[in-house]
Parts: sequence; C-alpha cells; structure tokens
Amino acid sequence: METTNNDRIRNVQGKDRRPEFWLVFMRSAQVAALIDVAFFFLFYALGSPILAWVNIVSVAIYTLVYYASKNRKKRIAVALIWSEVIIHAGLGIILIGWESGFHYYLLMFIPAICLSTSFRPALITLTVLFACYVGLDFLAWFIEPIQPINSFALKIVHLFNLSVVFVMLSYLSLYYLKTARRAQKKLNILATTDPLTELYNRRYMNDLVDKEIQDFNRTNDGIGIILIDIDYFKKINDQYGHKVGDDVLVRVAQIIKKQVRKQDLISRWGGEEFLIILPDTPLIDVQLSAERIRAAFLTYDWLKEIGEDVSPTITAGISELKQAESLDSAIARADRALYKGKADGRNRVEL
Ligand code: GH3
Ligand code: MG
Ligand code: MG
Repeated sequence: METTNNDRIRNVQGKDRRPEFWLVFMRSAQVAALIDVAFFFLFYALGSPILAWVNIVSVAIYTLVYYASKNRKKRIAVALIWSEVIIHAGLGIILIGWESGFHYYLLMFIPAICLSTSFRPALITLTVLFACYVGLDFLAWFIEPIQPINSFALKIVHLFNLSVVFVMLSYLSLYYLKTARRAQKKLNILATTDPLTELYNRRYMNDLVDKEIQDFNRTNDGIGIILIDIDYFKKINDQYGHKVGDDVLVRVAQIIKKQVRKQDLISRWGGEEFLIILPDTPLIDVQLSAERIRAAFLTYDWLKEIGEDVSPTITAGISELKQAESLDSAIARADRALYKGKADGRNRVEL
C-alpha cells in the first residue's frame, strides 16, 4: 500500500509513537529484571547473600514497573525506576564497596533527565544527581564495605556492571536518536507540504523553483508554468459544505498529479489555486499538459469518487520563464492569462 504524507505525519506525530515508547519502558523493565536475576546467582556465588536478596527485591520492583508501564502510569514507573537504581547503587557501594562499579548506573539518568524535561529543571536535577554521585564517592573514602568480597570477585562485578551500563546507555542513546530523527522528519514534512492536499506548500515551492532557475540559466531549456484555479469553487463550499470542498481539493491534487510527469513540481499555491512548474519543457508542451489536466476534470466521476456530483471545471493560465526573468514576473504573466480565461468564460487554458 502506498504511504502518503498524512500517514507519515501520523506515524511520527504520536499515535503510533506512544505504544512504542511504552514498549521500550516495558522491555527495559524486563531486561533489568533479568539482569537482577543473574545478579542474584552471581552474588550468592560470590559470597554476598544480602546483595543477592536485594536483587530479588529489585526484580519485584521491575515487575511493578512493567505493569505500571503496561497501564500507562508514567509517574509511578519513573519513580519506581529512580528509587530502585539509587537504592540499589547505594546498597551495592555500602555492602561491597565503590570498586564494585554500582555507581555507573546513576550515569544512565543523565540522558533521561536531559531529554525528559526543560532546561532549568534538568539543570537542577543533574546538579542533585552529581551531588549524590560525588557524595557516594566521598562516603566511600571513609567507610569500609560491610560485606566485602574477594578482590577477583570484585573485579568481575565491576566488569559486569560496567558492561551492563555500557549496553543500556547505548540502547537508550540509539532510541533517543531514532526519536530525534523521526521528529526531524515530521518537521520537514510539516514545513514543506500542505497538510490537506499533500502537495508542496508555497514556501517550499519557491525554494525548489530557485534551484530549477539556476539549472535553467546554465542550460537554457524552457521552464513552463501552469497556474490553475478551480472555477466557482466558492459555490461548491456554499452548496455542499466546507468538508466536501476539502475533499474536492484533495481530488484536484490527485487529478493534477496523474496528468503531469514525475519531474514536474506541483504545489498548492493558494486556497484553490495550484502552481505547476515543468522543467525543460517548451511552451507548446506546457499548453498540452494544461489541456490534458483540464480535460481530466471533464471525465472525472465525482459522484462515484466523493459521493457528490460537484463536477468542477478549472481555468489555467500558462507562461514560460524567460532567461534572467524572475519567477514572480513569469507567474504574474500566467496569472494575467488565468484572469483572461476567467473573463472569457472559464474552463479553458490561456496563454
Ligand atoms: P472563480 O471561478 O472566479 O475562481 O470563483 P471562485 O468561487 O472559485 O473564487 P473565489 O476566490 O471567490 O473563492 C475561492 C473560495 O475558495 C473561497 C474560499 O472559501 C475557498 N477556499 C479556500 N481554501 C479552502 C480550503 O482549504 N477548503 C475549502 N473547503 N475551501 C477553501
Ligand atoms: Mg482563486
Ligand atoms: Mg476559483
């Protein structure tokens, strides 16, 4: 199935993003619980039973995080994760020492804080986090571990913690990157297209044409301009309602798209006006294209397509961009031709 701009906007706008966000939360809770199960056995084997049982409490907490996420309870899920990580890291350091590397887990909050809140609260929270981190480090200077393990075991625990934090930070960063890219894509679509017809908007069309004009000044192949205006469109709105008017505009965009070449640029230039730019096209072919579009309106089955027999016609003004001429001036000529076409009775192509 063809993916339209509106589909793409919806995809990046949130409807489909929310479940994915919660999925990441739920998956993270599952992974964290699994890691804690592994820790349980590791610490039992390494002779630190208290720390082993702490992990069972952690598994219980992550189970709660999982269900809170499943029920979209963000505050509860976040509060549980924060408490678990801080208490777990603190206990790990107090029980077997700073060298265990349990403090690395606190670093995972840095990207989460920066991305989930605005600048000032983020700065405050980061300062608190830094104070906790340094405080724990400082504390570790003075207190001996309550339940020390042998130095080889300590190295293994350190390596394990470092690896887990490294993998989790990488995963989180990739997720954030994906989210940022998606937002960028959304902004790009919103900035360049008209949401109703999915055609280029006026501003982006101007940018695109600037590029075409640069090429044109090099090659001197003609650039054709077709300015289309729907005839008596106001009457359609008045008679059938604004919604049908909108439907008509969407269909008009589709009809035009079908009649032009891939390289031609189509934009919604105003309310019910459409501007088409035909690169490398002599005027005679521009005229043929415009006539083809006009004819397509006469055979379109509106009753079947939108449920109302609106059967609008269009009037088109055409022109050709001359060397060193500005786009505005070439469009002004097409506009004059268009108004002549209107005055002469509409449903026609004028040069
Ligand atoms: P003419 O043949 O002289 O062009 O007559 P017209 O009625 O098409 O022209 P006019 O400029 O009087 O009216 C254009 C109408 O287009 C008025 C405006 O409400 C309508 N319009 C502009 N944008 C939209 C839109 O996005 N949706 C709908 N439904 N109507 C729109
Ligand atoms: Mg108009
Ligand atoms: Mg009109």
